[in-house]
Amino acid sequence: MDNKMKFFNTLTKKVEQFVPNEEGKVAMYTCGPTVYHFAHIGNLRSYIMEDVLEKSLRYIGYDVKRVMNITDVGHLASDADTGEDKMLKGAKRENKTVMEIAKFYTDAFFEDCKKLNIKRPDVVEPATNCIDEFIHMVEVLLEKGYAYIAGENVYFDTSKLKEYHIFFNHNEDELLAGVRDDVSEDINKKNKNDFVLWFTKSKFEDQALKWDSPWGVGYPGWHIECSGISIKHLGEYMDLHCGGVDNIFPHHTNEVAQSEAYLGHKWCNYWFHVHHLNDKSGKMSKSKGEFLTVSLLESKGINPLVYRMFCLQSHYRKPLEFSYEVMDNVATAYTKLKKKVLELKKDEQVDKAKFDEYKTRFEDALCNDLNTSSAITVVYDMLKATDINDTTKYELVKSYDYVLSLDLTKEDEVETKAVDAELESFILAKIEERAAAKKEKDFAKADAIRDELLAKGVTIKDTREGVKWEITQ
Ligand SMILES: [Zn+2]
Repeated sequence: MDNKMKFFNTLTKKVEQFVPNEEGKVAMYTCGPTVYHFAHIGNLRSYIMEDVLEKSLRYIGYDVKRVMNITDVGHLASDADTGEDKMLKGAKRENKTVMEIAKFYTDAFFEDCKKLNIKRPDVVEPATNCIDEFIHMVEVLLEKGYAYIAGENVYFDTSKLKEYHIFFNHNEDELLAGVRDDVSEDINKKNKNDFVLWFTKSKFEDQALKWDSPWGVGYPGWHIECSGISIKHLGEYMDLHCGGVDNIFPHHTNEVAQSEAYLGHKWCNYWFHVHHLNDKSGKMSKSKGEFLTVSLLESKGINPLVYRMFCLQSHYRKPLEFSYEVMDNVATAYTKLKKKVLELKKDEQVDKAKFDEYKTRFEDALCNDLNTSSAITVVYDMLKATDINDTTKYELVKSYDYVLSLDLTKEDEVETKAVDAELESFILAKIEERAAAKKEKDFAKADAIRDELLAKGVTIKDTREGVKWEITQ
């Protein structure tokens, strides 16, 4: 097939033609969430753009297998192996067990993804499912001399590699800038960049999840997760690995170090990284200001798909600046666009030649370093064009929406108001009372009950299947 997709490969630092190992097939991996808190919309920007990349590859004909891990153990507060375990921190905060926290926030994450029309990866694997795989990898790394034991932990020895900083040539200052002041250096490390593969000696005695290992009872380091899980499901050669730019160092750098040392050959050819979401004051994070989640957007009346459209209007390699004013503008544009699409006539013959021409234009925008904003421009241009009939336009939008996933051809459902349990049982009791009144032929009472419900905004209808009710105001 025609390998026409091009995007910026962080490994070679240039926009490259994407050529997978096996023709027509893509082995794709995404670093999943650490499930100790709700997802920030800044992180969700990465997942939205990765979703667009996956769908673009499928759209142009690839068979994609995508794998994602769920970090439910081993991710410490700092990416540099120090600080408290994030999961444990979440459990303490909410007075729950670590597994309860993991379950709750995994579900919350996928709930957010659903609202943003992010497709669930083909394989979703929690780290705690793969402890045996991690132990095996650590054993091999020790055998091969890439790892050492110190202070009862197992460390990866970065000095054994020809090249450790494969993504960027870091200088010391850059590295230090990423390290928080309250992080103390681990004295067991032989080299500054060495990292933990397996902890047995945790600073935190109450580490909740522990497993037996040849080095004692403990738990895996964070980085080993992604190597173990991706090799388990995608094999020794991976085409495409994604994440946010935050992941480049140390996480992805360490993933490459241990995977290639373990496998003895090059592991992944293409690395795709999505930039930050900022606000006017700079990078948005959990610790600064309002904690932006999908639910918070919804509580302010912002449709999650408006946020998706906002992300799509900008290039994934540019920082994106969030503000409520911009969201209002995007919301207006989104409503207008959708209205235009839904007004198209759908009873004409599809013009095949025009359909193909505009489908190609859309694909070309996506294949040009995933230029989603020019793909959206193609949508507008196509809708404006005078030489295509309405039905062809409608079918094109439907086709584009496989990738854009903005529900552009979906008729809005009548907004149903949430009904609380108390109101519901009140309604059901009244319906029963009315039925009893009717049985007694007390129609005045039956009507009075109907009116009483109506006054509360509840309309009831007698149907063949029984009495139906809905909240109408
Ligand atoms: Zn990862």
